[in-house]
Amino acid sequence: MDVLYIVVPCYNEEEVLPETSSRLKEKMERLIESGKIASKSRVIFVNDGSKDRTWEIIRQLHTSESLFGGINLSCNRGHQNALLAGLLAVMPICDMAISMDADLQDDIDAIDTMIERYHNGSDIVYGVRSKRETDTFFKRFTAEGFYRVMNLLGANTVYNHADYRLMSRRALEGLAEFKEVNLFLRGIVPMIGYNTDVVYYERKERFAGESKYPLKKMLSFAFEGITSLSIKPMRFITALGGFVFAVSILMLFYSVIGYFQGRTVPGWSSIMVSIWFIGGLLLLSIGVVGEYIGKIYLETKQRPRYIIEDFINQESDLDGNEQE
Ligand code: UDP
Ligand code: MG
Repeated sequence: MDVLYIVVPCYNEEEVLPETSSRLKEKMERLIESGKIASKSRVIFVNDGSKDRTWEIIRQLHTSESLFGGINLSCNRGHQNALLAGLLAVMPICDMAISMDADLQDDIDAIDTMIERYHNGSDIVYGVRSKRETDTFFKRFTAEGFYRVMNLLGANTVYNHADYRLMSRRALEGLAEFKEVNLFLRGIVPMIGYNTDVVYYERKERFAGESKYPLKKMLSFAFEGITSLSIKPMRFITALGGFVFAVSILMLFYSVIGYFQGRTVPGWSSIMVSIWFIGGLLLLSIGVVGEYIGKIYLETKQRPRYIIEDFINQESDLDGNEQE
């Protein structure tokens, strides 16, 4: 039977934890009873340096119920880092892990379908919001714009998928290979590969507490996502440089012809041409320098160049590695 771990990052969530934990407990008990998951399955709350009583509550939950566990981070490291800490911590002891927010905006009934898809051979199952009716217009507008802009700028993410997903143990092991410091899980997880699937659910309202993602945090999250996943913005500069450079050539012809036709005041041609020429040259050079910085940037990330899915050559003993 497969062991499921649910990982829940929590930042100042004292208001929601009692309700969340009791609902998750109910869910887990039902899953265990129906034989879908092993009885050793657990719910792990990751306390992300909360300033309120969150960690105290998690500790109480753990003492009263062996189903609940907790991880306490040294300080507030942000949602993404808290999530990664939880996932990597449970990796060696689980067969699959589901990450979800503490506020239960993501429908926990989708868990059953996720597990089903896992048994059908998917290593990663994305929870995708089918509707956002309960979100305010502003939140919906900004959040959906966020996914569009992200994809446009080369950070490929699953549309309307936040961090509610199931990952198999080997998918987690793949994730562990990404040593990125600028962490944007939604962009990295699709790079792991394997069989993936999608489960749709309706997003609910936060039942207590406030969103810990105000607009300011969302913007910096988007910026982080783009700059930590892609070097496309830099390519734009190079392309722009090439374009302006081409315009400078046109300007050259235009002003030289104008000069011979006598339509110009003295000095106009040379100034016009040099403005465009130098502008184009500058942008192009910045772009080229940027390309090199981009290479350094990708190099310093030390992303895995591949993740081995399978190795069927059992007889050979390459590098003395142990095979299953
Ligand atoms: N969170 C966290 N650290 C932070 C901010 C948020 O661990 O610095 C957690 C938070 O407790 C919640 C999840 O990340 O479980 C998502 O936050 P929230 O629900 O406020 O975001 P929203 O749903 O409004 O986008
Ligand atoms: Mg939320």
